[in-house]
Order: sequence, then C-alpha cells, then structure tokens
Amino acid sequence: MVNAEIIAVGSELLLGQIANTNAQFLSKQMADLGINVYFHTVVGDNASRLRKAIEIAQTRANLIIFTGGLGPTKDDLTKETIANLLNRKLIIDEEALQSIRAYFARTKQIMTENNVKQALVLEGAEVLKNDYGMAPGMALTIDEITYILLPGPPKEMQPMFLNYGRPFLMRKLGRHERIESRVLRFFGIGESQLETEIEDFISHQSNPTIAPLAGDGEVTLRLTAKHHSSAEAQKMLDKTERAILQRIGAYFYGYNEETLFSKTLEKLQQHRLTIASAESLTGGLFAQQLTAIPGASQTIKGGIVCYTNDIKKRLLHVSEEILQMDGAVSAPCARALAENVRKLYESDIGISFTGLAGPGSLEGKPVGTVYIGIAIHNEPTEVFSLSLAGSREAIRMRTAKYGAYYLLKK
Ligand code: ATP
Ligand code: MG
Repeated sequence: MVNAEIIAVGSELLLGQIANTNAQFLSKQMADLGINVYFHTVVGDNASRLRKAIEIAQTRANLIIFTGGLGPTKDDLTKETIANLLNRKLIIDEEALQSIRAYFARTKQIMTENNVKQALVLEGAEVLKNDYGMAPGMALTIDEITYILLPGPPKEMQPMFLNYGRPFLMRKLGRHERIESRVLRFFGIGESQLETEIEDFISHQSNPTIAPLAGDGEVTLRLTAKHHSSAEAQKMLDKTERAILQRIGAYFYGYNEETLFSKTLEKLQQHRLTIASAESLTGGLFAQQLTAIPGASQTIKGGIVCYTNDIKKRLLHVSEEILQMDGAVSAPCARALAENVRKLYESDIGISFTGLAGPGSLEGKPVGTVYIGIAIHNEPTEVFSLSLAGSREAIRMRTAKYGAYYLLKK
C-alpha cells in the first residue's frame, strides 16, 4: 500500500500570499493513480522546521512529495535539508548544469555562482527534467520510503510531474499505462468562448486531460486519457467527449485529421448530392479545397470564378438591378449566384461566395463583409451573412470554411 504525504515548502503559503494549488494538483494525481494521500503539510522556508516535518512524515507515509525550495536563492533549502537528514551527498548533475548554462546563454543573462546550486541533486536519485525552468526535480527511494522533489512554480511542477514523476511512480507500482488521445474539432466558436464554456472541465480534470489549441479560425481540443487498459482509456475519452459536446456540440464537426471539407464531401457523397460553386471573393478556393480530396468527381460538378460584375451578369445572370441597387457584395447577389450556378451546372446544390477581403472597402461596405448563398433543389435558398476579421488571406479561407460548415450543419 502506498500512502503519500505532500509537503509544500514556502513561507508565502503560510503568510497567505498564495494558495497551495500544488497540493491540490498532486492529490488529484494520486487519486488517479490509486495512491492514498493521508496528509498535506505546509512548512515555511526554514531548515529546522522542514526537517521536523520530514521526520514526522517518515513515521506515517512511504511516499513523500515535496514542492518548492529547489531554486537558487538562500531560502531555497529543500534538497539541502533532505540531504542532511538522509545523509546523502549532493552532487552536480551535468545534464542539468548544461541546460542551466544554455538557458543563461540563450537569454543573454549573466550566470551567477548560486545558479550552479540548482544543478545539485541527491546522489543516487533519478533526475526529473525541468522542461519549463531550471531546477531539476528528483525521485529516490531510501529505506522503503520514496521521496519526490518538485519545483514550486506550477508551470514547472505540473509538466515535470506528468512527464517524469508520474512514469517513475507507475514503474514503482509495477503498472503499465496506456495513453489514448482524441482530437475534437470545432468551428464557428472562438477559442476564448470555447474555453469559457468548458473552463470547469479544463481546470478540474486531470484524466483525461483537455488541451485546447486554436489556429486557422478553428479550435481543437485534445483529450488524453491514461489507463492500464486501452479500452478503458477509450471509455474515459467517450465520457469526457459526451460531457463536452453537451455544452458545445453545436460547433463540433469532426475528429483528429478530419477537415471541414472532408466532412462536407463525405456528407454530400452519403446523400448522393452534387454541387457547383460560384466564387467571387474566394476565387475558387472552395472548389479547390473540395477537389483536393480524392474521389470528389462524383460530387463536384464544377464552378465559376465570377470575379467581375460582367461575369456575374453575363454567365450567372445576376440582374443589372441587383448589381446597381444592392451591389455585388449583397445578399440578393449571393442568392442569385447560388441559384443560377445550380441551374447552369444542373447540380443539386449551388453555393456562392461574395464579399470583401480587403485591402480597401467597396460599395461603402467594410472589409470582412461576406455573403454565402446556398441553393438546394426544391428548398428555399438561404443566404448567410458574416463579418469576419483578419488578413485578406484569413478572410478568404474562413469564408470557404464557413461555406463547408453551413453545408455540414444543414
Ligand atoms: P524558483 O526556482 O522559482 O525559486 P522553487 O522550486 O525554489 O522555484 P519556491 O521558491 O518555493 O520554488 O516557489 C516559487 C514560486 O512557485 C512561488 O513564488 C509561487 O508562485 C509558486 N509556488 C510555490 N509553492 C507553491 C504551491 N504549493 N502552490 C502553488 N504555487 C506555489
Ligand atoms: Mg525559490
């Protein structure tokens, strides 16, 4: 049976200046590993009181996890105190010293002598790398008691524990762990809104972990579950996914490597529907994205890059009245383009894109004004209007993606 005690070292904790979130994080991790945590101890930056705290912990725990006091300053004395108590030497870890020197060289700072101290580790300990700071962590077992030393800053401590401390414990417990992950893809929701909607999941859940990532107008969530059985890890992912989609399922469109375009094509293929596009703003980007996927020829009939008003008028029969009264960047124009391209290509669906990607406005309309028309056989034509922000390139790509998204959500 492993019984743990977590000792957080730092006078700031006792003064109430910071909350002991490290103990909270580690306790959750222990629960996840099936390790009992019987005590949380907080002790200031004081060698004799820390020593006393460790002596007490040794009587009631066989796993003692420390956070804090691994840094370069005088009040950082966790490893010195443990070395004294356990009669262990502190030796320089060459790899840690190298990375500390590299850090100073990289940031063009002068490395003072006390920084060498950060590379000192307990003799015989397994060194836990610090990928986000300088002081390495340590893990060692002496007389049936395991000691794990982690730095204070949560940004350093958490990844160190997850990437190196946790695997150390898993080996100790003789367990193998499967890691399963899954990416959920969202569109039409900003990263901050998405994070707000599921903030409680992101911050309170450690298995599976939930990591958001944004880019190209899309947001993804990577869920990662750990379990000794793959099937169980997948079940955990399923459960977390269901909870997330209950809140933001409206914006969800696919998994892993799937794209809005591949999903749209898939859907059109399933329903045996054909499509044609009339693209002003996007200049063929939508058709290009769809035709880039193998096997699209049964679905995509073709399209027109109707960049000028003359082409809109002559090839796609947008009326002079619409072009004069509403303009080329307008809902009526998008509607006419979608309906007429559908007729021209004898397809089930016609889709159109008109708008302004900048630089410079037109027809008195601001950059980012976009209209997307979707005409479907025997259904009323729909026009979606958007005001997008970003560079010319970003607006064009996001417009094409919105086209796919609207088709997908229909
Ligand atoms: P450093 O190299 O930054 O000095 P350290 O390992 O010596 O790291 P401390 O000096 O004890 O750690 O603490 C550094 C900072 O880490 C604190 O100012 C605080 O912001 C944060 N911290 C320390 N302990 C905890 C804790 N138990 N919970 C949350 N945050 C903590
Ligand atoms: Mg410190």
